[in-house]
Amino acid sequence: MTEPEKQCSQCLAFKPLGEFYNHKTSKGGKMLACKYCKNEYARQYRAANREKINEAQRQRCAANREEINEYARQYRAANREKSSEYNRQYRDANREKINESQRQYHSANREKINEAARKRYAANPEKYKEYERQYHAANREKINETKRQRLAANPEKQHEYDRKRYAANPEKWIESQRKYRARVRHVRNQCSVINALDPKKWEILQSKLKALDSTKTKKKE
Ligand SMILES: [Zn+2]
Repeated sequence: MTEPEKQCSQCLAFKPLGEFYNHKTSKGGKMLACKYCKNEYARQYRAANREKINEAQRQRCAANREEINEYARQYRAANREKSSEYNRQYRDANREKINESQRQYHSANREKINEAARKRYAANPEKYKEYERQYHAANREKINETKRQRLAANPEKQHEYDRKRYAANPEKWIESQRKYRARVRHVRNQCSVINALDPKKWEILQSKLKALDSTKTKKKE
C-alpha cells in the first residue's frame, strides 16, 4: 500500500503527507505548502527582515526581562551540571572567538563599562574593597608575576609612573617608600631570627620576601 500523497501549493510537487506540517484548521489537517517550501519561505523572510526581527526580539526581551531572567535562573538551577559542562565545552572550542568579541565589546563600550563599574563601586565601596583584598590574597603570586613581566618589558614606563606619583604627592610617595623598606626590614629580621628548625615558617617568610622584592619598583635613592 502506497502512502497517500498531496500536492504542494508552492513547488507543485506531489509528496507524502509526512512532508507537510500539521495545521488543525486546514482541509485534511495539513498545510498547503510542503515542509521544504515553508522552511525556505521562513529562511528568506528572516534574511530579508533580519533587522526588524532582531529589533522585535530586543523589545520582547526588554519587556520581559524579569521573567526571562527568572526562567534562566530556574533552568540553570535545574540543569547546573549539564549547563556548566556545556559552557565549558563551548568556551574551550571557541576561546579565540570569545576573547576577540570581548575585546571588541570592551573597546567599543569602554566609557559605559567604566561608568557602570564606578557606580557599582560607589554604591557599595566596602564590598568591593573586601573583594579586592580577597582577590589579591588569593592571587598574590600571579599578580606579582604580571608586575615583574610588565616591569621587565618596559622599565622606562614604570619609572615614569613613579616620577608622576612622586610629583603629584612627594610626601605620600616618601611615606610609601619608607613603609616598603620597613616591611622588607621586618621580614628580613624575622628570617634571621627563625631558622631552619621551622622549615614551614621559613618557607613562608622566604616567599614573602620574594614577593616584596618583586613588587619593588623604585631603585635605591
Ligand atoms: Zn513544496
